[in-house]
Amino acid sequence: MNIYRVTAYLVRLPLKRTVRHASFERSQSEHVLVRVELDDGTVGYGEGAPREYVTGDSTEEAFGLLRRKSLHQFLASLRPARFETAVAAIAEMPWEYAPDDARQCRGHAARCALELALLDAYGRFFRQPLYRVTAIIAPELYQPRSEVRYSGVITDAEGWKLQGVALALRAYGFRDVKVKVGIVGKDDVERLRILRRWCGEQVELRIDANEAWSATEVWERLAQLRPFGLSAVEQPVPHEDRMILKQVRQELRVPIMLDESLCSLVDGQRAIAEESCDLFNLRLSKCGGFIPALRLAQLARKHGLGYQLGCHVGESAILSAAGRHFACSVAGLRWCEGSYDRFLLRENVTRANLTFGWGGWAPALTGAGLGIKISPEAVQGMTVRREEIFGITESAAFDVERQ
Ligand SMILES: [Mg+2]
Repeated sequence: MNIYRVTAYLVRLPLKRTVRHASFERSQSEHVLVRVELDDGTVGYGEGAPREYVTGDSTEEAFGLLRRKSLHQFLASLRPARFETAVAAIAEMPWEYAPDDARQCRGHAARCALELALLDAYGRFFRQPLYRVTAIIAPELYQPRSEVRYSGVITDAEGWKLQGVALALRAYGFRDVKVKVGIVGKDDVERLRILRRWCGEQVELRIDANEAWSATEVWERLAQLRPFGLSAVEQPVPHEDRMILKQVRQELRVPIMLDESLCSLVDGQRAIAEESCDLFNLRLSKCGGFIPALRLAQLARKHGLGYQLGCHVGESAILSAAGRHFACSVAGLRWCEGSYDRFLLRENVTRANLTFGWGGWAPALTGAGLGIKISPEAVQGMTVRREEIFGITESAAFDVERQ
């Protein structure tokens, strides 16, 4: 089945509140959506979250990357006869990295959006759910489950407000909670004290510093916070300072998870060689999609490292659904983050509610492709730019910038 048309959208997803962490603050989230239409009218959607401070991606660049000739040739050549051959071909999608991009991660949001849209479209056409991709690409990791449990996340709350959040998370039955630390002006020792007291001893606590601490500062900060019982410390130092982490792991004996430093296979291989972490944080968008994230999980497992599923703030139901398929099919995920839809978004791209329920539990999606119905009207309502990147109308590029 041929591809008839591919369209890229820049959408602004409005958040219910301003979300802050050590490296960013946002009240809306700009994402790239891709819509793939097959010759028979079957439509698939994908999403990516360009983050300049993670992979160097800008939304502007994402559109440019999707217009490349090598991709056009690839899209024109896709004529799979079965879902397995579609997945195998999509796994080999050409993606050229700039000569100065030694980490090979720039443009991963755009790659993720296109990859998911292709997998969704062919999944629907061949009546296969997205999670089957795990069975095809990483059979040794394939472990389908009917439900999955997500983590609670705390961003910048402090004082009595944090106490309330901790009690709410406890009442909601979360097994584990991640808290953002290293935010300027916040007393993390006091915040962890409140959390441990009001969440209880049985809740697993882990922290994410989003690169906030320097290589000299990290020792003192972790020595102060370690007594609160941390299951993991995510990206405590900037990527450039990651070499210190081998020593930190050995001396403080606290599990280190890489996030901003883990955006590609090159990053993963370096992290293993440098012994800089115990865990990978796999976020589909920054890793370049479902298949590259699977490859990183394979790499981690091969070298005895742990891995979790992460997410980007403000992901629409498209990335939430893709994450759900990943979470419900990949063995050995230490924790899962995502599906915060109704807690964070004022509007979404579907009427389906993907938000997890009590205890962080959420069911597997079993329908073909992503398994959710996207509303074209809802996508249109959030679109600030639309561009045909492949197909009969590919010359018609236009902006629909609006306030
Ligand atoms: Mg992180």
